[in-house]
Amino acid sequence: MSGILTGKKIVIMGVANKRSLAYGCFQALESQGAEIILTYQNDRMLKSLNRFIDENVTKVPCDVSDPENVESAFKTIHEQVGQIDGIIHAIAYADPEDLKGETTDASLDSFNKAQSISVYSLISVAKYGRQIMNEGGSIVTLTYMGSERAIPNYNIMGIAKAGLEASVRYLARDLASQNIRVNAISAGAVKTLAVTGVKDYSTLIKLSNERAVNGVGVTIQEVGNTAAFLMSDLSSGLVGDTIYVDKGTHLI
Ligand code: NAD
Repeated sequence: MSGILTGKKIVIMGVANKRSLAYGCFQALESQGAEIILTYQNDRMLKSLNRFIDENVTKVPCDVSDPENVESAFKTIHEQVGQIDGIIHAIAYADPEDLKGETTDASLDSFNKAQSISVYSLISVAKYGRQIMNEGGSIVTLTYMGSERAIPNYNIMGIAKAGLEASVRYLARDLASQNIRVNAISAGAVKTLAVTGVKDYSTLIKLSNERAVNGVGVTIQEVGNTAAFLMSDLSSGLVGDTIYVDKGTHLI
């Protein structure tokens, strides 16, 4: 099918199931003509993917907690499909014990783990991804407004998202030498596997939806459509930015 991404090869990292924001990206990018390469965290995720993603889609293992895995994943991707044009990074993790109570409850180890998987992974993905990326490429990560507001129970993940958004700006400056753009989408709250780790997540989603301008929360398809635009040459003027895709929740 032809569309704004026809001829582009794009890596999507972080599809866990059909509720994942990354799956909304998968659907939107595929419908705009992109060839998709998926990475998955572990065998359990691969089993899940195989239930609903066509077997012809290239799937490569990549647990981002070890940068060596990231390096070998991009080597494998290069061997299998050649140069790429974009990467969607839709990965985050914090121990559920840290997604409740107070921020001072978190230990240094769990803080470091959240930073490593949710922030440093974008840096290592950019480091190895740029080595196989064509000029004019695009990298997009997913963030949340808990980076700027003290959202109940979001705690160290909010701190991680602030670091992620700062990383986007620094990476955008550095990768500009290769004409690669880096941006973030700040999505409204959607019920996904990751969100169910946050204590009282249903309240968080309810409050988020109520603040949407029409009272209806954003969908993974709407997030995916913005990701498709950011992967395309139509967004060439957007560099190092955080784009809200939350139906106006952040305004109210
Ligand atoms: P999800 O659970 O569907 O996806 C999270 C993904 O992270 C999973 O695929 C999981 O395998 C992957 N992951 C975790 N640790 C990993 C590791 N060590 N190596 C490789 N992969 C790992 O949840 P989601 O909500 O779609 O999350 C995707 C991104 O969107 C996250 O960055 C999340 O913070 C962000 N986000 C989510 C919301 C929301 O409300 N759901 C809002 C804004 C931003």
